[in-house]
Amino acid sequence: MNSIVRQREPFRWDGVPLLAYKADPAEARFEGVTRQVLFGDALELGVELRYFEVAAGGHTTLEQHEHVHAVMIVRGVGRCLVGDKVHEVAPHDLVSVPPHTWHQFRASDHEPLGFLCLVRCDRDRPRRPDAGDLERLRADPAIAAFIRA
Ligand code: MN
Repeated sequence: MNSIVRQREPFRWDGVPLLAYKADPAEARFEGVTRQVLFGDALELGVELRYFEVAAGGHTTLEQHEHVHAVMIVRGVGRCLVGDKVHEVAPHDLVSVPPHTWHQFRASDHEPLGFLCLVRCDRDRPRRPDAGDLERLRADPAIAAFIRA
């Protein structure tokens, strides 16, 4: 394991592959999202630190799960749904996603949105909304206008 990994261009690191956001794109609706694992389980911390980048106009999957996310925005501006609220986010804002809480990130139309996301290595699979979940979410006009599902 290298002690130092250099950033060679903005938001790309030596030897860190640029991955698809989700292994199976058919499994979840998202657009223009890449994933880089900055710290995997090699350090045996029990957590992974990932860098996600959502292209301008893109969005992550609307999902929830038992595990939590600790997020720091590091590039661009955008908005995120956490639970029943849509928030504007900008660099160095911190976003906590509690267990079993609907969440989705959207970039602005003009620039990518990049964020660091800390998760447990041992974590459950995300759950997508079913028709009943979507109906409950869309009861709030602000959420209805925001979500992509
Ligand atoms: Mn998630």
